[in-house]
Amino acid sequence: MYTIRLKKGKEKAVRQLHPWVFSGAIDQVKGAPENGDIVMVTDNNNDFLAYGFFNDKSRVAVRLLEWNFETEINEDWWRKKITKAVKNRATLYNADTNTYRLIFSEADFIPGLIVDRYADFLSVQILTSGIERIKTIIIDELQKLLNPKGIFDRSDASARAHEGMDASSGVILSGIEPPQFVCVKENGIFYHVNIADGQKSGFYCDQRDNRRVVADHSGGKKILDCFSYSGGFSLNAFRAGAIEVVSVDSSALALDTLKRNIEINSFNNIPHRLIQSDVNKQLRVFRENNEKFDLIILDPPKYAPSRSALTKASRAYKDLNRLAMLLLNEGGLLATFSCSGAVDISMFKQILAWAALDAGKEVQFIEQYAQPSDHPVRSSFPEGEYLKGLLCRVT
Ligand code: SAH
Repeated sequence: MYTIRLKKGKEKAVRQLHPWVFSGAIDQVKGAPENGDIVMVTDNNNDFLAYGFFNDKSRVAVRLLEWNFETEINEDWWRKKITKAVKNRATLYNADTNTYRLIFSEADFIPGLIVDRYADFLSVQILTSGIERIKTIIIDELQKLLNPKGIFDRSDASARAHEGMDASSGVILSGIEPPQFVCVKENGIFYHVNIADGQKSGFYCDQRDNRRVVADHSGGKKILDCFSYSGGFSLNAFRAGAIEVVSVDSSALALDTLKRNIEINSFNNIPHRLIQSDVNKQLRVFRENNEKFDLIILDPPKYAPSRSALTKASRAYKDLNRLAMLLLNEGGLLATFSCSGAVDISMFKQILAWAALDAGKEVQFIEQYAQPSDHPVRSSFPEGEYLKGLLCRVT
């Protein structure tokens, strides 16, 4: 096995079980490991620290897997990790919900592997060269544990590019031809998921709990769901007794799916508008038309992919939230989210405070939201905490 020796002082994070070794922390690579090889990491005195996947194409040169010197990372090791992750989610599957994340990369001690369940189908993202090598073990174990009708590769091309890997997608395993839409159920609401062409892995299951609790505030209200995608927040609002729902998204495919979702849940009789537009533009149109809402949901895509994008992203979050605050009826509610890991909850509150000041409003934070239990946060890996939200009463 090849050995990676760290620079003096760079062993601290590894000792604290952080799973990343950045290329800048490396003093010496002994031998010539290939990308995806398992290497041993030592401190500057050559004392063992951990084992991990090597990749010199990535900023994260080693993704750590195991801190016990005696433990061999073999097929059995992988099968156990997969089994544990899947079993930890067993209670999420019930009569009302059959879609959730089964494996969440570092958070489940399997860096670079994401697996989502859509009823009887699985979508797999393979994002590191180390995981690519053990793909057959992963597929075999998932098949044994869940016996899915099909497994699809939805690996994100840009994440793979960061690792120096080619894009990949398609059918990995299927007893039947992949259906265009898989029908899933989340908290008793049906969704069509377009696994092949939908965004990310097809459905944003990280908002499962938040969709339900935000909807508790929808009864008798006029709702604006911004960045609606296939309607997670809109459909929950319909069910919770909203009197009108307006959904805005820039993607035609997303709104087409939302339209189907309204039909399959028989919410057609409730007044609704689906608007294909840029949210920032559309919020200005509402303002010009003096149209107001009682509850506005803002669930934008990731504005800050990294720390270097923070200044620009903060401004974008502030502008978006300021505009939304101006469209609320007196005492209205704003359910606002950020999925940028670089923006933590205290920074998000600060951004909302600035937005409120600019809008000439007062904001009370009345509820706080996070990612659900199938997206755990490892205490040694705070970077895995990315989704946060606040329910604001705006006066
Ligand atoms: N709330 C959704 C998930 C939102 S994901 C749910 O519960 O499932 C972010 C969405 O924002 C995507 O559907 C994407 O198409 C949309 N989007 C991205 N940029 C946008 C923009 N500028 N204006 C409108 N929609 C946008």
